[in-house]
Amino acid sequence: MGNCQVRFLGGRDAATYALLPDNKCLRYWMDTSKENKINRFALSKYSTELRNEFNFVKQLNSMAVQASAERAWAAIQRFFDNCKSNKPGKKGFPRFQHDNRSVEYKTSGWKLHPNKRRITFTDKKGIGELKLLGKWDIHTFGVKLIKRVRLVRRADGFYCQFSVDFDHSKPLKPTGNQVGLDVGLEYFYSDSNGNHVDNPRFFRKAEIDIKRVQRRIYKHKKGSNRRSKSRKVYARKQLRVSRQRTEFVKTEALTLVQSNDLVAYVRRSRSRRVDLKVKNMVRNHRFAKSINDVAWSQFRQWIEYFAQKHSRQAIAVKPHNTSQLCSNCGAKVKKELKVRIHKCSCGCVLQRDVNAAINILERARGGQPQSNAQEVAASTLLGEAARSWGSPP
Ligand SMILES: [Zn+2]
Repeated sequence: MGNCQVRFLGGRDAATYALLPDNKCLRYWMDTSKENKINRFALSKYSTELRNEFNFVKQLNSMAVQASAERAWAAIQRFFDNCKSNKPGKKGFPRFQHDNRSVEYKTSGWKLHPNKRRITFTDKKGIGELKLLGKWDIHTFGVKLIKRVRLVRRADGFYCQFSVDFDHSKPLKPTGNQVGLDVGLEYFYSDSNGNHVDNPRFFRKAEIDIKRVQRRIYKHKKGSNRRSKSRKVYARKQLRVSRQRTEFVKTEALTLVQSNDLVAYVRRSRSRRVDLKVKNMVRNHRFAKSINDVAWSQFRQWIEYFAQKHSRQAIAVKPHNTSQLCSNCGAKVKKELKVRIHKCSCGCVLQRDVNAAINILERARGGQPQSNAQEVAASTLLGEAARSWGSPP
């Protein structure tokens, strides 16, 4: 599956017409007792009943309602899966959507103009015909290949996304290289070959900028014109930063996957102690953890996405002790976060993150039995998820 996205002008707020069969489905699931187990089919049936009950649902294309029910089900499923696998931290109990920005159609309810420069929505929500703007490659695909169409509101306009069913895999020749990565605050990441990739400047700049604009919002009275104006400025800034960030992590991930047969990295650790440590460190480095956090998890997703596309291996391993163990002799060398050099009695001296990156690669190779089967499966799963709708295109 591949996606492409087209911006368009005009059209009303997608959120207002999608008025959320999602939420109704979720309510229905919460209100039903455990004995009458609800599954996907029950939800889908319920969404059909909603059509008779509520006018706003009736006006929406039937497949759009179905897609909405599926979304609600996906949220419930995710919650169950997290509980079953005993995922540490929050399990993600499904939440009601209050600020929905998108509506999704499957193969009906819309019609592409033969020249594919216009799209018409045929249900009764009154969106009508939209002109597609900008650079796009939707014309290279047959209409039959388009499996889903989604309208999204962003801070700078409306977008029309197409999910296209085609095989995008491009296996690459083996390189004979393998690499382990450790993400840190000092550098964006360090690898097992001793290279460091710096945090891009805009991370820091964006953080200052965004905070300044954010403060401006609260200076104005609630509900005032000025306040809503500065909110919009804020939203556009955020969007710009997120696009820059995506561009950055995408390029880095692609380069790594292209030049290595195996990329090993740590699974996100949620343990409190680590969080606390990071917090202290952030203060020291005066660096935006939030921006970094998002960038790292995106980074991992893109690595998995490209790995799948180019038939490479992406392996997530447990992070425990990777920075404490000596990558040369395996001895435990305790050190605090502020100690940036790993020095072992065996004579091994490495930059701290490089030492960790080597351990991470070793773990992925199966050098340490506590890593694996499960981790590999988890990363493949993520790769699957990345292929579907909503994640990296
Ligand atoms: Zn050693």
